[in-house]
Amino acid sequence: MTKTGMKLVVTGAGGRMGQTLIRIIAAMEGVTLHAAIARAGSSLIGRDAGEFAGVGHLGVPVTSDPLAAFVHADGVVDFTTPATSVEYAALAAQARIVHVIGTTGCSSADEEKIRAAARHARIVKSGNMSLGVNLLAELVRQAARSLDAADWDIEVLEMHHKHKVDAPSGTALLLGQAAADGRGVDLQETSVRVRDGHTGPRNAGDIGFATLRGGSVIGEHSVLLAGEGEIVTLSHSAGDRTIFARGAVKAALWAFGQKPGFYSMSDVLGLSK
Ligand code: NAP
Repeated sequence: MTKTGMKLVVTGAGGRMGQTLIRIIAAMEGVTLHAAIARAGSSLIGRDAGEFAGVGHLGVPVTSDPLAAFVHADGVVDFTTPATSVEYAALAAQARIVHVIGTTGCSSADEEKIRAAARHARIVKSGNMSLGVNLLAELVRQAARSLDAADWDIEVLEMHHKHKVDAPSGTALLLGQAAADGRGVDLQETSVRVRDGHTGPRNAGDIGFATLRGGSVIGEHSVLLAGEGEIVTLSHSAGDRTIFARGAVKAALWAFGQKPGFYSMSDVLGLSK
C-alpha cells in the first residue's frame, strides 16, 4: 500500500541521523519519504533509501539534486553540516516549504542567513529535538532565575561520541542560553567555553562549559548549579537517536500549519513562555 501524508525529504541520508530519520519516517503515520539526498559522488546515489537504512524497499532512490527534491515536497528534515543547512534553507525558501534544521555548530553568520530564509520558509531549528532536553532547558531557566548569580555558579557539562566535530554541543549551548535567559544576561558575554593553564579564580556570573568526547555516547548533558556547600544537578541522557528523529518529524508536522518564520522546539512543544 502506498504511504500518504506530509512529503518529507531527508538530507545527509547516509549519516547517523539521516538513516535514523528514514527508518522513523517509514514507520510513522502522517508522513512519507519523498526523497533522500546525499553528497554528489556518494556511493549511495541511486540506491534505494529504505534498503540501505534497513527497512526494506521504499521506491525512493537517493539523489544529489536538492532543488529537484524540494520542488514537490512539503518539508525537509536536515541533520548535515552548517554550510549545507544554509544552502538548503535558501532552497526551502524558494520552494516555500518547511525546513527542520537539527545541524549544530552554525556560526552567527550562518544563523543570520537561515533567519533571512525564514521570511519565506517555515524553519524550525534546535540544537536538540528531544522533548526531554527542551523540558530540561525550561527547568534550567527557572533554576537560573531563582538562584542568585552572586552565590550560585553555573557549569554545563556534556559528553558525546568520538565522531562529533563541534564543541560545545548544540545542546550544551541551548542549555547555556536557557541559563543566561533565566539570569537576564547575554550568553556571549558571560560564557567561558574553554579553561586551560593559570586561569585565575572563577568570576561570579560566568556560565562555564566542559566538553568530553569518546566512544559511542549519544548525548549526556548536565547543568550544575554550585552554591556554598551544595550543588543542584539537572541532567539528561539520550539512550537512542530516535528521540531526535521523532522530535524532528513532529516539528515538521507542526510547522506545516504555521506561517513562514523561524521557530524553536519550545514553540513546537508549547513550552515557550
Ligand atoms: P553524520 O553521521 O556525520 O551525518 C552527516 C551527513 O551529512 C553525512 O551523511 C554527510 O555526508 C552529509 N553531508 C554533509 N555535507 C553534505 C552535503 N553538502 N550534501 C549532502 N550531504 C552532506 O552526523 P550526525 O551524527 O548524523 O549529525 C549530523 C548533525 O546533526 C551534526 O551537526 C550533529 O551535531 C547534529 N545533531 C543534532 C541533533 C539535534 O537534536 N538537533 C541530534 C543529533 C545530531 P558525507 O558522509 O558524504 O560527508
